Amino acid sequence: MNNNTKQIVLDKRYLRMAEIWAENSYCVRRRVGALIVREQMIISDGFNGTPAGFENVCEDEDGKTKPYVLHAEANAITKVARSNNSSEGATLYVTASPCLECSKLIIQAGIKRVVYHELYRMSDGIDLLVRAGIECVHVPDLSE
Ligand SMILES: [Zn+2]
Repeated sequence: MNNNTKQIVLDKRYLRMAEIWAENSYCVRRRVGALIVREQMIISDGFNGTPAGFENVCEDEDGKTKPYVLHAEANAITKVARSNNSSEGATLYVTASPCLECSKLIIQAGIKRVVYHELYRMSDGIDLLVRAGIECVHVPDLSE
C-alpha cells in the first residue's frame, strides 16, 4: 500500500469511529460525532449536545433544536481547550460537514485538515474552510 492508500484507509476507520461516537448523542433529530487526531493520536472527541450541567434534551416541545446545543465539532474543540493538548495542525473527523459557525472555530483552532462523511445541506462551512486553506476531504463511502 502506498501512503495515499494508507491515508484513505485510516480516514475511513476514523470516520467509522466518529459514527459510533455519534451514538452518544441524546439528540433525536440528528446525531453527529467528531474526533480530533494529531500525530496519529486521538486527542479529542465530541458529539452534539447541551452544555455540561444542562438537561440531556436537545429539542424543545416543538421538536426544534435548542439554540444552546453545541455541535460535535465545537464540543471536540472546546474539550482540547480544557486539556494540555493542542489542536494545531490536527485533523478533524466529523460525520457531517461542518456548519459556518463550527468552521470559524476549526480555523481558529489551527486545524489543517477536515475529513467528513455526509455533506450537510449547506456548504458555506466547507467553502469558508477551503478559503482558509484547510484541506477538506469528503468520504461518502466508509467501506474498505
Ligand atoms: Zn456546527
